Amino acid sequence: MNKKLTKELPNLIRGEIKFNEFLSKHTSFRIGGPADAWIYPKDISDIKNILTFCNSYNIPVTTIGRGTNVLISDKGIRGVVLNLEQGLCEIRVKADSVICGTGALLSRVLKQAAKEELTGLESAAGIPGTVGGAVCMNAGTKEIRNIEYVSIGNLVESVKVIDMNGNVSELGKEGLCFGYRKSNLSEYIIVEVELKLKRGKEKEINDRISRLLEHKKSTQVLDIPSAGCIFKNPDGHFAGRLIDDAGLKGLVIGDAQVSMKHANFIVNNGNASAQDVLELIRKIKKQVFEKTDIKLEEEIKIIGV
Ligand SMILES: Cc1cc2nc3c(=O)[nH]c(=O)nc-3n(C[C@H](O)[C@H](O)[C@H](O)COP(=O)(O)OP(=O)(O)OC[C@H]3O[C@@H](n4cnc5c(N)ncnc54)[C@H](O)[C@@H]3O)c2cc1C
Repeated sequence: MNKKLTKELPNLIRGEIKFNEFLSKHTSFRIGGPADAWIYPKDISDIKNILTFCNSYNIPVTTIGRGTNVLISDKGIRGVVLNLEQGLCEIRVKADSVICGTGALLSRVLKQAAKEELTGLESAAGIPGTVGGAVCMNAGTKEIRNIEYVSIGNLVESVKVIDMNGNVSELGKEGLCFGYRKSNLSEYIIVEVELKLKRGKEKEINDRISRLLEHKKSTQVLDIPSAGCIFKNPDGHFAGRLIDDAGLKGLVIGDAQVSMKHANFIVNNGNASAQDVLELIRKIKKQVFEKTDIKLEEEIKIIGV
């Protein structure tokens, strides 16, 4: 680790820093080696100071939200990892819009929106990440009866971002590009998002949320560590069905296993390493391709050394 990190950086910011912080504590997979420095910036000015400092010593900076869509390597992440859940998590409502710090949990934003009788975000119910992670990944839910399919990108009116040189800017719709589980924002630190919703009725909103949560409870794996769906659904197919049809449900490498409940989930049965998961991913891709000629593509982000 660069010694300047421990000696100088704590004096430049107001937020909390932890050195050699194991990322397995911060990911839903419960997998991931240490970050040299794990930081909860207090505000935008902290982030700018961190970037100026890191740029001057060539120290990489990564942003992680709730860690629910990432596989972090066993050797961890060199440099600084930012988490915005402590300092940038305010939620405000202005007319039909919700404006939130990207460290806010999606579930909190959804609850607040429902209370304010704002509808549109219901399909985010049960997605366990932060607003920043959701916008970066364009998170969403596939259609279930009576609930309109929406990926969060459809609702984004504008975002405030910081580039890696520390410049803050605001991007409106014309500067934003969302695709299936991707956006053009991965090169930025996203700090604030405005979501445009519509007027609705609290009871109807809460009913839709409950139905979706019930549906997720019956289809997803919620009681064993995972990172949600590992692969994107290829055009016209469901990745889970392809994996199941290839006979791979239950396949085990180390402590990582293809879930028996949902074949597009890999679960950590206790002490799975990132290496176990990567080998399982490789095996699944190979066998599905041999059987179907279809190349599965990872939805999760694989990060680290
Ligand atoms: C049980 C379970 C169920 C899930 N169900 C769904 C689902 O139904 N639909 C769905 O779409 N996803 C689902 N997911 C995946 C995941 O929850 C979402 O993608 C979520 O939005 C990720 O948010 P996060 O805060 O955890 O992001 P992370 O996993 O921490 O990060 C994801 C990516 O976003 C980047 N990032 C995070 N914050 C910022 C920021 N502020 N600025 C810039 N980049 C940032 C990270 O660098 C990383 O590349 C599920 C996951 C689990 C474990």
